[in-house]
Amino acid sequence: MKLAQVIVDVPTMQTDVPFTYSIPQSLLDRIKPGMRVIVPFGNGGRKIQGFVIGFTDHSKYRLKPISAVMDLTPVVDDELLQLSKWLAKTTFSFRISCLQTMLPSVMKAKYAKRATLLKPINDPKVKQLFDHQASLTYRPNKLTPDQQALIYQLRQRGLIKVTYLVKNQARSEMVNAFTSRLPVARIKYLLKAISTRNVGQVTLLRFLLEHPTGTYKIAEVTKYRQHLSSSVINQAAKKGWLKKLKVRKYRNPYKQPVKKNHPFKLNSDQWHAVNQIDSSIVNDQFAVYLLEGVTGSGKTEVYLQAISKALQQGKTALMLVPEISLTPQMVTWVKGRFGDLVAILHSGLSSGEKYDEWQRIQSGNAKVVVGARSAIFAPLKNLGIIIMDEEHDTSYKQEDTPRYQTRSVAKWRGKYYHCPVVLGSATPSLESRARATKHVYHLLRLPHRINHQALPTVHIVDMRKEIMKHHGINYSSALLDAIKLRLKRHEQVVLMLNRRGYSNFVMCRNCGYVPKCPNCDISLTFHWHSHSLRCHYCGHEEPIPRTCPKCGSRKIRYLGTGTEQAELELKRFIPGIKIVRMDVDTTSRKGAHARLLHEFGSGYANVLLGTQMIAKGLDFPNVTLVGVLNADTSLMLPDFRSEERTFQLLTQVSGRAGRAKKKGEVFIQTFNPDNYAIRLAQQQNYERFYLIEMTRRHALNYPPYYYSVRLTASSKNRRLAIASMASIKQYLQTRLSPQTIILGPAPSAITRIKQRYYFQMVIKYKHEPNLQETLDYILNHYQIGVRNGLFISIDPNPVNFM
Ligand code: ADP
Ligand code: ZN
Ligand code: ZN
Repeated sequence: MKLAQVIVDVPTMQTDVPFTYSIPQSLLDRIKPGMRVIVPFGNGGRKIQGFVIGFTDHSKYRLKPISAVMDLTPVVDDELLQLSKWLAKTTFSFRISCLQTMLPSVMKAKYAKRATLLKPINDPKVKQLFDHQASLTYRPNKLTPDQQALIYQLRQRGLIKVTYLVKNQARSEMVNAFTSRLPVARIKYLLKAISTRNVGQVTLLRFLLEHPTGTYKIAEVTKYRQHLSSSVINQAAKKGWLKKLKVRKYRNPYKQPVKKNHPFKLNSDQWHAVNQIDSSIVNDQFAVYLLEGVTGSGKTEVYLQAISKALQQGKTALMLVPEISLTPQMVTWVKGRFGDLVAILHSGLSSGEKYDEWQRIQSGNAKVVVGARSAIFAPLKNLGIIIMDEEHDTSYKQEDTPRYQTRSVAKWRGKYYHCPVVLGSATPSLESRARATKHVYHLLRLPHRINHQALPTVHIVDMRKEIMKHHGINYSSALLDAIKLRLKRHEQVVLMLNRRGYSNFVMCRNCGYVPKCPNCDISLTFHWHSHSLRCHYCGHEEPIPRTCPKCGSRKIRYLGTGTEQAELELKRFIPGIKIVRMDVDTTSRKGAHARLLHEFGSGYANVLLGTQMIAKGLDFPNVTLVGVLNADTSLMLPDFRSEERTFQLLTQVSGRAGRAKKKGEVFIQTFNPDNYAIRLAQQQNYERFYLIEMTRRHALNYPPYYYSVRLTASSKNRRLAIASMASIKQYLQTRLSPQTIILGPAPSAITRIKQRYYFQMVIKYKHEPNLQETLDYILNHYQIGVRNGLFISIDPNPVNFM
């Protein structure tokens, strides 16, 4: 007998193994691995979603049958099923979470309930709730407490029956279309027979003559053709000239047509790189290439030509870029080269658009995928190349479960399809660069800018001296002079305000008191706009205190600065200056990011002022000055990678200046002018930075010399969290080798979020054969504590130690 193995949508440790279900006769032929099904679960027989992962032919138990199949064809193929298994294991997460992560969010089940009246009830309150119908479909959390109570009562009295529904949200929009039913000869005959005064019919027949096969959307055909209306088409359908049908509407997220662009003639470094990568594509060979190229060295062109090669070989290509680099400019480059073969996946799309793009990939219509982190799971078959641009970027690490590193997933898929993985960056992560040194990766270098364009001149401004000179807090006089010069020359300026970390808080200058969020224990952020303090984690908001709650002093004021404030200050110094501001506030609406960039690119504004989001990917020829207002904020982070991050950020942002004919200039304002990360970023000397930083990491036993794993315990009960960490530590000490270092437990830098206490422990190791097994045991063993509100999570190779 054929039985189905199903991973059910119940993320707890005990259910992470597949459950076995019987298959009703009617579904026997239809069910395949990788399809979503609806199954009864638990004693109540509640209906939930699951994924069929395989079949078996025996079971010890009496089995429940599968209730329904949600898909016509599998939504995860064999490769992705295998990948989900590996992912669950290596990221210590649930298989169901991994499967759901791979699919567009609309394919995740939504659960609703349906209450059905067992007999008519005359109570007006009931009639109102049921809207005079016999049944009501509802989401429990959407009901008012009164309504919930009413349903509960009715159920207690046996007057209603409540069932669970699994809603499939993945729906395509359908539109009307038609296809010709006439043979060509018949069309020709009709065209002769019909009076030319029937303009509509003649136009339609001419259309059918040109398009004897294929399906055409009515709205699209009638839009551009005079005399051709939907009523003409309806009449023709009645006459049997054509057949009307419904087709899926493709919600194209990029409406503007893209101009075709052509491959550049490569310079010799680019040519060498492409040549190497191509040889792996052609020979079906898995290999990891690290493409280390200074900013403006033409890495994108290397990617595009390698993608071309993969397509020529009848293969597909996946190109990942950090979310903030997925700019309209980048999209234009790729679409302009490969046209409709390209699918774009990024967070700015609506969930419907994302689903449509996913469909195009799944069906094989899209062969090149460009997207941010989660696009690594794009259902491309027969991959010929995987590219990760800006491979060092921290957004490639998913911070929630499953806590995967995109690079590792890329390598897994590269091995599966025997294709090259290309990691590109001007500032590779130390981990990747170290692997290239050991020849685990192949190093490809582009040491020069295109056309040997000079790197910009970078000035470091010592703010310790500047701050005394005038009343502003954001601009040194050197930077202000440089901005004024650009205005005179009609050139443009990019200013970056580093907002990561603690840049924007209120402090008492008398006693040092800093207002914190009562729920989360992190500094509240000053909001210029609403003149209030806000918590960025939970949304708590409160007014700014006039006097210090601790010492009563009136010297309590905000410290640091926000983009809004930097904008106002600049306008005060240079009246009439036109500024485009780009930060989370101005870019939260859909399409805002693109609109602001366009506004700046069109030359309307003098200055683009923004947070880190402006540091990458932009390529404006008229920008000749870049200013970093505060280089220090990222240096202050409590993280061993803060120098690396600072170096990366400053190098990236400096690369924005002087990309075209005009020479660029950069000003970096800092209170730490002698720091090596800042000095070497000034010289754009990655190789030197790599050597110094590696020495430091070696001395302090940090990655890449050591691997690390972070364990976090969280609970509303502080003592429970601490105690469990202590007992886990004891267990670890008995299981792991003596060379392995266990740090902590310590409260996380942010110790309390939404009333929960977080404690963490970091394991640093070089070689630890028992690790997987030991950590699996910890998860299984302590997960029992979920009932007490204790939650243990494991993060392999974390990138953020906050
Ligand atoms: P990177 O990503 O390495 O910072 P880009 O890929 O943005 O650099 O390339 C910089 C500029 O050089 C782009 O405007 C690109 O179109 C152009 N470019 C790239 N390769 C060539 C080439 N072989 N010949 C001429 N221009 C090129
Ligand atoms: Zn005070
Ligand atoms: Zn909060």
